[in-house]
Formats: sequence, structure tokens, C-alpha cells
Amino acid sequence: MLKRDVDLKAAVEAAWAAAAAHRGEGKVASYIPALARVDPMKFGIAVVTRSGEAIVAGDADEAFSIQSISKVFMLALALNRIQAMLWERVGREPSGSAFNSIVQLEVEKGKPRNPLINAGALAVTDAVIGDGSPDEAVAALLDYLRSAGDDGAVLTDDEVATSESEAGARNRSLAYFLSAFGNLRNPVEDVLSAYFRQCATAMSCRQLARAGLHLAFDGRDPVTERAPITPSRSRRINSLMLTCGHYDNSGDFAFRVGLPGKSGVGGGILAIVPGEASVCVWSPGLNAAGTSLAGAIALEALVERTGWTVFA
Ligand code: GLN
Repeated sequence: MLKRDVDLKAAVEAAWAAAAAHRGEGKVASYIPALARVDPMKFGIAVVTRSGEAIVAGDADEAFSIQSISKVFMLALALNRIQAMLWERVGREPSGSAFNSIVQLEVEKGKPRNPLINAGALAVTDAVIGDGSPDEAVAALLDYLRSAGDDGAVLTDDEVATSESEAGARNRSLAYFLSAFGNLRNPVEDVLSAYFRQCATAMSCRQLARAGLHLAFDGRDPVTERAPITPSRSRRINSLMLTCGHYDNSGDFAFRVGLPGKSGVGGGILAIVPGEASVCVWSPGLNAAGTSLAGAIALEALVERTGWTVFA
């Protein structure tokens, strides 16, 4: 619950101001050339509450590349599609390793640690493709985001997708490794094609916070009443975001922010406040684990002011 006498608008503005000086710190992701061109001084925050009202500051209406935040919504789609069978193919443990690590895949015989590291996300994307096509899987993600966010203006940035594919040796290695262990059912390049495009989804803080709101309310959007996922899946997705959403930085994020969250190397972070709100921050400078540096500071400041944490 919001602390007594907290003015949420003032808290959002204060969180923005507390982190603004850290813009430009950290490193903009450069292994995807199209992302390296983004202005490191960009910084936005959006908080969407039960009423659907958005409280925003900074560059909250500028679309950015959501990157790995897409993994959360693809996980929802995969669970809807193949239910608990997903857990035969992907684990639910934090990896303690980098997002694109390959080492555990060999030791653990092609079963990725969790659905939010790249290896796990590739298996999830394969499950979403199912017997269909990669185009259909990407369309399903866009439909999900547009419906959950009550906003039809969500698109794939094809330039970012192409850029990532051209620089995609690492993800190709992961995908071929998964395939060698029989953990991809579709042609490897089809899975990669869908994966690169899901990561290249472009959304603003306002849109992404709105699209995540159902995760704060047991899978049902409190405004539209649409329920893209069941309460138990919503709860479980939040638990995975908390334990695995920031790779080898997940413990530190839980310690500092104390909310389920998912980072993307575009500099976005989606954070869920169960029963209260959905928050998205965006600032392209990243820490070593690929989490937005100013973004995490802003969330820390917001939680400090609002008392929003799952650990209170
Ligand atoms: N598309 C990026 C990749 O696969 C996503 C990584 C991320 O956002 N952490 O490398």
C-alpha cells in the first residue's frame, strides 16, 4: 500500500530527479549496432495505477527498444499455449550468470535455467511458435501487448531486429546448442527470427507500464477487465521476474528495489507493484549485467518514497 500522505505525482517527480544526474553513466548496449545510436541522456518514468491513470516524468512518451522485457510477455503466451509442459523444457532457478551465457546449457543438457535468460527465452519463443510460423508468434506478442496496454500503436522496429540478427552470433550459438539437445522443435533460424523481432518491439514507458498493469492485479486488467492470463500464472511470472529478471544482478535488484522487475538492454525496466501499480523506467546507460543504471536508481528512490515493495 502507498504510504500515508504520499503524493504519488510528487514521488514520481522526485524519483526522476534523484536519478537524473546518473543519466549517461554506464554503457549503452553496443553489441546491437542500432541500439548504440540511442541518446544516453534519455530518461523517462511512468507509473500506472489501478485506475489506469499514468503519472509520468521525462521522456515517458518516447518509444524505445523493449528487448528482454519482451520475454515476460512471451512467457505468458507460452504458458497459455502449452501450460506446465513448458517446465519440462525450461527451469525456474536463477542462473547467477550473464543473460547470454552458454556454460550452464552444456552442463544441464540443454535445459536452460529459467525463461528470462536468453537460452530459456529462445525455448519459450519456440513454444509460442508451436505448429505455427514465426510471423504468427510475433503477431501474437504484438496483439498481447496492444490488448493488455489498451493501445494499438505497438510496432516492431525492423531496423533493430535486422541489426541484432546481423550481430547475432551469440544468440545463434545458444539456439543451435538448444537444438542439438532437442530443445527446439522448429527450425533454428525461425526461432531466432521471431526472437530478434520480439526484442525489437518499440514501446514507450507509458505504453509498457500500462501493458504490464494486469501483472499487478492477478492477471486481470483493472480497467478493461481483460484477463490475458490466470491469477496463478501472473503470480508465477512475477516470482520469476523477482528471482531471475536481472540475470546475475537479480539479487541486488531485489535488495535495492524489492519488486518483480525485468530489464532490457535497450535501457528499460518494467517493475510490478502487486495490488498497486505497474512502473516502467527507461535510460539507456547499463550496468555490467545489462540493467539500466539510472533506471534502477529511480526505482529505488520511488520505492523509498512510496513504501512499495513486496517485502514490507
Ligand atoms: N536482444 C537481446 C539479446 O538477445 C536481449 C538481451 C537483453 O535485453 N538483456 O542479446
